[in-house]
Amino acid sequence: MVNSGLCILSDKVKHDSSQPNLVDAFGRKIDYIRLSITDRCDFRCVYCMGENMTFLPRDEVLSLEECARLVKVFVSFGVSKVRITGGEPLVRKNAIQLFEEIGQLQGLRELVITTNGSQLEHHAFALKQAGVRRINISLDSLDAARFRQITRVADLDKVLRGIAAAKQTGFENIKLNALLMRGINDDEALHLAAFAIENGFDISFIEEMPLGAVSHSRQSSYVSNEETLKLLRARYDLVSSNETTGGPARYWRIPNSKTKIGFISPNSHNFCEACNRVRISCKGELFLCLGQENKVDLRPILRAYPHDDKPLKQAIIRGLQTKPKGHDFDLKRAAPAVIRFMSHTGG
Ligand code: SAM
Ligand code: SF4
Repeated sequence: MVNSGLCILSDKVKHDSSQPNLVDAFGRKIDYIRLSITDRCDFRCVYCMGENMTFLPRDEVLSLEECARLVKVFVSFGVSKVRITGGEPLVRKNAIQLFEEIGQLQGLRELVITTNGSQLEHHAFALKQAGVRRINISLDSLDAARFRQITRVADLDKVLRGIAAAKQTGFENIKLNALLMRGINDDEALHLAAFAIENGFDISFIEEMPLGAVSHSRQSSYVSNEETLKLLRARYDLVSSNETTGGPARYWRIPNSKTKIGFISPNSHNFCEACNRVRISCKGELFLCLGQENKVDLRPILRAYPHDDKPLKQAIIRGLQTKPKGHDFDLKRAAPAVIRFMSHTGG
């Protein structure tokens, strides 16, 4: 047992077949959760955060024990994939110990992380040891000045060292996430794809979503994945693939290369019909849809019933019935589709 005091998962947890799976009112089975373990981040990406952020007071954020308990409950419902995200998950103190705890769950097929890469130099090996086999690293530019402009504060070299450490650690799969913005890095698609191919990584291009109020116009900065795909097809013989994670990504293969290119297109393609996931914020809010406000506040229940999971399970099942049919993104609207930033909900 690790010395963080986490001990909730010492008994092996697997899907309890006497419990129903999580199925929403539209018949969609939920077997994937994304859990944000902090709203804090060492970057301030212009599309994700304001320049001056106020972060949550400590007692409003779930403890790592509460995070572990929630994951355990979801796995008992048949959830088989958990993504730990944020904010930047690796800036949370003792985050690795949470991975170690969750990594022991028998019912879990996949434990994955989305990170900005800044801490990977120190933590890549420990993540792998904890059972993380696939890792997503966000990388929007290979140009140091632009990288600084997008993240407002970050050092590209440090992230590249983190990516190199992850590569050396030997994860089964490393995927880069790149978000292109008009006039800032929209000419980097080919360069980023070539970097992924050279290193044997996958890469996904993400369309910017109207989450949270930012200082630029989302409509003006928007670069459609259709445009990026066209650019890449002019350079590579892309072969369409029907691989799916049940999410918004559509994939293409490059012949004679390990690399898969994905396009996450929430604005130009509706992906909601096959949605298999819910998100939990670092405050314990269960968000049923990234692009809608429906939520269930699980933190008061977690805290009111520290030794009884039944009320928590009932709240989750009830909440799932309010999962909306789909998101409501419309870049032409001046206001953001949802007020909260991606760093709050968990990307
Ligand atoms: N800090 C980690 C990182 O950057 O990978 C994890 C959290 S971050 C919120 C997860 C992903 O969300 C990143 O790949 C980021 O590019 C993406 N993201 C943030 N704001 C977004 C937005 N408004 N639209 C689309 N993607 C966004
Ligand atoms: Fe931080 Fe990730 Fe948001 Fe960038 S995208 S500010 S790295 S949480």
